[in-house]
Amino acid sequence: MSNTLPSTRSLVAQALHYIDEATGGVVPPIQPSTTFGRDENYELLGAYSYGRYGSPTVTKVEEVLARLDEGADALAFSSGLAAFAALFETVRTGQHMVAPEIMYHGGQDWLRMIAERRGIGLTLFDQTKPGALEAAIRPGETAIVWIETPVNPTWDVIDIEAAAKAAHEAGARLGVDATVATPVSTRPLEHGADIVFHSATKYLNGHSDVNAGVLVTGQANPFWEEIFVNRKYLGSILGTFEAWLLLRGMRTLFVRFEASSRNALKIAKHFKDHPKLDGVLYPGLESHPGHEIAARQMTGGFGGMMSVLVKGGEADAKQVAAALKLFVPATSLGGVESLAEHRKTVEGPHSLVAANLIRLSIGIEEADDLIADLEQALATL
Ligand SMILES: *Cc1c(COP(=O)(O)O)cnc(C)c1O
Repeated sequence: MSNTLPSTRSLVAQALHYIDEATGGVVPPIQPSTTFGRDENYELLGAYSYGRYGSPTVTKVEEVLARLDEGADALAFSSGLAAFAALFETVRTGQHMVAPEIMYHGGQDWLRMIAERRGIGLTLFDQTKPGALEAAIRPGETAIVWIETPVNPTWDVIDIEAAAKAAHEAGARLGVDATVATPVSTRPLEHGADIVFHSATKYLNGHSDVNAGVLVTGQANPFWEEIFVNRKYLGSILGTFEAWLLLRGMRTLFVRFEASSRNALKIAKHFKDHPKLDGVLYPGLESHPGHEIAARQMTGGFGGMMSVLVKGGEADAKQVAAALKLFVPATSLGGVESLAEHRKTVEGPHSLVAANLIRLSIGIEEADDLIADLEQALATL
């Protein structure tokens, strides 16, 4: 086998390449043991001692995840937010955090809570305004600058390289939620980020049947060690069966992401000037304010996430969402089935999301069928 495999696709194929020595099986086995034995000298027989610290099937998925983002190491968690919590557990009282005004709402809610409970500063910046991120950072005080790109659910695109530069100049670390871009399209460590986050519940698994989260680090350093210790004591490691399912899902990550991206671009172009819409938010459209950065930063496609702004107001948007027949009205994203959601309804009191916005997660069905479904739903207005 060649030792110079250039693309991430090839690296992942290599990481997933597997032959079970005992049986010749081409997929890894599930090792569900929660405890691991010792020899006559009371030394551990292998690399593991107890399932809450680590286990073989979880290690296997972490190896693939580290390769996907070309990082030094990865840790798998029982959900995206479990990963998020283990990371932000490192922030001490008196320190400060920076995050976008619009981002995954559950994560932002948690930042607000820990800021209040633990006496940590929190500044939310307007992710659409040049210079706002830089202005939010407090040199020497800010511990973590958090960005998400594209931003859920407006799909604003944040320049990772510029954010990394600003964070590092102030002695802070940059964490990037790249759930929507996936490593197929954006690998934040290459742009200077310190930590990459994914809700693996979404595209990485891709089948809407596993809750999982991931952190990938550029460097195995004491900070990373602290995150590992947090996972150990929070007890938030990914379960064995879920790890195995995630390994299975990732085998098709590239083809799923590419199919969703292709569909989404076609749908976005079809609806961008639709008379019943105030607009389509999709970074693949040249009219999108983040398109220029996206074209540079999202090298493997613009992804399957978009939002439509329905003419009228909240009632009209909800009517359209309810009239869809092929799109499933449900939260979440990144599965093979297309989903539609009136986002403001689920985000709660702090939400800055427009009341006429419907978020669409584009799956791998026929684009023309999805277009026809949206057309018939808009025609009910
Ligand atoms: C879903 C999601 C999360 C949270 O992940 P869970 O797996 O639900 O805990 C974080 N960020 C983004 C962008 C998400 O879509």
